[in-house]
Amino acid sequence: MSLTYLDHAASTPMRPEAIEAMMPFLATSYANPSGSHRFARQARKAIDESRDVVASVLGCRPNDVVFTGCGTESDNMAITGAIARSSGVAVCPADEHHAVLEVVEHHSGVVVGVDAVGRVDLDALATTLDDLAGRDVAVAIVSVMTVNNEVGSINDLAAVSRVVRRHAPGALVHTDAVQAPSWVDLREVTPHVDLLALSGHKFGGPKGVGVLVERGGPKIDPLIIGGGQERERRSGTHNVAGIVAMATALKSTDDERATEIPRLTSLRDGLVDGLVGGLDGVIETIPREDKVAGSAHVCISGIESESLLFLLDEADVCASAASACASGAMEPSHVLAAMGVDRSVAMGALRLSLGHASTDADVDRGIEAITAAVTRLRR
Ligand code: PLP
Repeated sequence: MSLTYLDHAASTPMRPEAIEAMMPFLATSYANPSGSHRFARQARKAIDESRDVVASVLGCRPNDVVFTGCGTESDNMAITGAIARSSGVAVCPADEHHAVLEVVEHHSGVVVGVDAVGRVDLDALATTLDDLAGRDVAVAIVSVMTVNNEVGSINDLAAVSRVVRRHAPGALVHTDAVQAPSWVDLREVTPHVDLLALSGHKFGGPKGVGVLVERGGPKIDPLIIGGGQERERRSGTHNVAGIVAMATALKSTDDERATEIPRLTSLRDGLVDGLVGGLDGVIETIPREDKVAGSAHVCISGIESESLLFLLDEADVCASAASACASGAMEPSHVLAAMGVDRSVAMGALRLSLGHASTDADVDRGIEAITAAVTRLRR
């Protein structure tokens, strides 16, 4: 039986054109782009062209684009680098990805609440920033994700930015946009932020390559120093093949977004309707209008996510739950906890996520396998 892949939020299959674009830089054009010979200049030219592509899709200047090793590194660099530059605190909402949340907590930052669908609570953010100002605590950076990786909710970065500029004018605004490129035209986000993070493997590019946009030039200290690559902003020999493939995948994602969103909305609706229609006790975690097209997060009563994922794995269906096993006890996801989802409901969480490779057959097979597995677990 072939694999039914319903886990695009975890990682996406590479796009064929991205694989094709990267091959020469693995096989023949392997020079170090920092070198001075012609062979090296070819590799450097490929990076420059990729930088232009990334900048045009993100709506920034090529010089604002810093290539990194992954989304986690970009987030770490933004937060740690901002704190190192200005010695203020970092602030983020409670449902950020661990790549942001743990960095903010590591630096003794401040975590603010979210609403019932997982968007930052703008009033709580304003109050927190006022409170910090009242105590003479400088804010180095406020980090709010563009799209949530578990439930798919979308933050309004223009509104976030207005709150930050008003209540903490010295702070930088960072967005983890790792889950966004398939669903959001980032040209409408970038102008509102100072820093923006991407990861190649979430939109058909390879793993191990990411972007940090530093809009308007360097505003933070570098995280990795040494060889001075990326105009001293991120040292380390460039992953030329990865950068070229990521730029190719980003361009395809941008070109196809307008046709992919309606296609995937219809597939996602079919998937959720099939589950809700075929099983009792399936709750849509947040309303469809509040989330991106590829996201189908549900909570299923009377089962535990881990057991369901085990049966789905046996049936060659890839999905995820985002609960973590801490000290031997299953802990529900921090995202659902932050949204106020009852623990007993959150224990039955199932994250199904569609993307560029999803088909009608995936949806049909997913409904069939999940329905059978839940029925078996409830027996
Ligand atoms: N931020 C979000 C929202 C993510 O979904 C992920 C990956 O799951 C990351 C950051 C980390 O990206 P990477 O896997 O490139 O380190």
